[in-house]
Amino acid sequence: MSSEWDLHQELIKDYDNRYDYNGVSGDRLARRLHLLSEIGLTDDGGSMRIGFSQEEKQAKELAIEWMKEAGLAISQDGAGNIFGLLEGKDPDKPAVLSGSHLDSVPNGGHFDGPLGVLSALEVVEAWRASGYQPDVPYEVVIFSDEEGARFNSGLTGSRAMTGTADIELQGELTDQDGKSFEEVMNGIGLSTETFAGAVRNLEEIGTFVEVHIEQGKRLEQNNLPVGIVEGIAGPSWLEFDFIGKAGHAGNTPMTERQDALVAAGEFIRNIYDLPREYSDSAVATVGKLNVYPNGINVIPGKVALNVDVRDIFEETRNQLIERIEKEAARISKEFEVEYRFRQTLKVDPVPIPDHLKEKLGQAIEQHGIERMELPSGAGHDALIVGHYLPVAMLFVNSKDGVSHTPDEWSSLNDCVQGVQVLKSYIESLT
Ligand SMILES: [Zn+2]
Repeated sequence: MSSEWDLHQELIKDYDNRYDYNGVSGDRLARRLHLLSEIGLTDDGGSMRIGFSQEEKQAKELAIEWMKEAGLAISQDGAGNIFGLLEGKDPDKPAVLSGSHLDSVPNGGHFDGPLGVLSALEVVEAWRASGYQPDVPYEVVIFSDEEGARFNSGLTGSRAMTGTADIELQGELTDQDGKSFEEVMNGIGLSTETFAGAVRNLEEIGTFVEVHIEQGKRLEQNNLPVGIVEGIAGPSWLEFDFIGKAGHAGNTPMTERQDALVAAGEFIRNIYDLPREYSDSAVATVGKLNVYPNGINVIPGKVALNVDVRDIFEETRNQLIERIEKEAARISKEFEVEYRFRQTLKVDPVPIPDHLKEKLGQAIEQHGIERMELPSGAGHDALIVGHYLPVAMLFVNSKDGVSHTPDEWSSLNDCVQGVQVLKSYIESLT
């Protein structure tokens, strides 16, 4: 498939040239998405550019060439984050930053990440065509290792830039091949030490905006090309153990059992209904469960499970977590088992400032598109940056809501409208 397959041709097939105005070129965007897709292309037509791999590095190098051609001054920090600077009329003002990432999950798609980087760059191309210079500096950013596929972590580049990365913990990570973080970094000319030095003076940046595919179906259901992210949910991970008594499945009467799995089952069933009581954007998922001793003729003595809880509002997220723990307490009483609870991860959600949502809404309407706001359930680099700087996010319609697979798709019509909105939005800030 891979030798015949051509993303550029696939994208341009259904493209409506009327979206080419103000110097924005759908053909250039499609060609660049295609050239990036060739780096780490899998047999399934997917993308294999793991964070800190040679493929991610190669993709960055290609993007750097384009950024240089567009007149940007390139710098790279010790985490491998790339910045392309366009001077503003007032070079001392804080910059507007826009971009995303070029790494992928194993056998992922070609839009998650690259679309945000190339959209930010396409704005510069459009300006170049008309000789426009923004009042404040504008920077295109490529963050390293957003997906975290190698070390089961993620958002690594943006954490390094904001000084949020735990360097000691980072240094202790090893990948599936047993390679340490240091060895992996050395492979691309960096080190744990350079990584630690990647912290940026955030006073140089005024705001960040990220274009990203929605990875959900809301825009498609509303037949809209783009939408305003109203807030970015941060993941909270809860770990529960239900501890009963293991026993023989044949010799223990039903009245004398302390079955940990029955308690866990009731718990999973009940917390499925809880998020909607707190907010429309709250979600809770049990995606991991271990049963002990896990024998066909043994009453389960212990169940360990994990709950992933998210919401874009901190208050309702916290209320939901509290309620889930109460539910575990109630159920453990009812089924005469014990429970243990531990929170293993807590990333606070990032609200998008109202004035930025308003500006984005105006930019959307300027292009004859209806405004729609929607939550981001997934974390993005904007989630990390948003803890320090005002951020905005623009989602682009994802076909069937599919992402992190080779089938990930956004039409070029929708992608280019995203660039047009981004351009108008950035111009309204500068
Ligand atoms: Zn992404």
